[in-house]
Amino acid sequence: MDTKTKIALVTGGSRGIGKNTALKIAQKGLDVIITYKNSKEEADQVVNEITALGRKAAAFQLDTTSVKNFDEFIQNVSKHLQENTGSAHIDYLVNNAGTALYSPFMQTTEEQMDEMFNIHYKGVFFLSQKMLPFMNDGGGIINISSGLARFAIPGSSVYGSMKSGVETLTRYMAKELGARRIKANVVAPGAIETDFGGGRTRDDKEVNSFISNVTALGRAGLPDDIGGVVAFLCTDDAGWINGQRIEVSGGMNL
Ligand code: NAP
Repeated sequence: MDTKTKIALVTGGSRGIGKNTALKIAQKGLDVIITYKNSKEEADQVVNEITALGRKAAAFQLDTTSVKNFDEFIQNVSKHLQENTGSAHIDYLVNNAGTALYSPFMQTTEEQMDEMFNIHYKGVFFLSQKMLPFMNDGGGIINISSGLARFAIPGSSVYGSMKSGVETLTRYMAKELGARRIKANVVAPGAIETDFGGGRTRDDKEVNSFISNVTALGRAGLPDDIGGVVAFLCTDDAGWINGQRIEVSGGMNL
């Protein structure tokens, strides 16, 4: 039996879904690396919470739209891991970092599309590609998509399309990385009460009640509804789940 403590890297682990995911993964007994873009204090707090759970954790700054910085980031992470665990490798990569765009199809600009492409598709593609030499065989990649890749709510044409792209990419990853026993899966949350999009699912009463009304379980989602599902995919019990999309939305727009 492999008794070495496994390590997961969660992008955008400073807040929202990524933070909850990092904590749930730590509760499953893995050590965790998180990244943040601006929120160093929040990221340090997550590290403290994970450490309090008895697991090792560290936070690194990373802009996932900046592919040119990925090599340096990976060097820093692998150096840290080598020094602290004796191996430069991780087991699971959770591509979670992301920003919102609510913009009608007719008004969306090229700049807005490029921004969505960079964060939701290109960054996921190249961070995964560049991390793979630093991942142990038998591990996994979990890409965070969205219910908006399955159903259409006006204003999310670009965002939803990029998430659809990442879902297709995930199936290719699963197929091409199978030889290394690396799984690739999608977790697609419904609308979740976080800071995302200015916190509108959480703070805008009209939006929140619209979501509750189209959700079978009758409310908007919380970070706590998502993290445990991603964490499960970082365990051996989920080792035969591969190339799948798991929607975690309480049954939105069924
Ligand atoms: P959030 O609360 O706004 O947190 C976003 C996280 O991503 C933060 O940790 C942030 O870092 C990081 N981040 C943002 N831009 C980044 C960049 N350019 N480079 C690196 N990190 C960056 O959002 P969330 O709701 O947790 O969303 C997380 C993921 O779930 C996203 O992929 C989103 O598309 C997806 N999702 C969200 C919902 C929802 O309703 N909330 C629904 C479906 C899918 P800082 O803290 O440093 O800014």
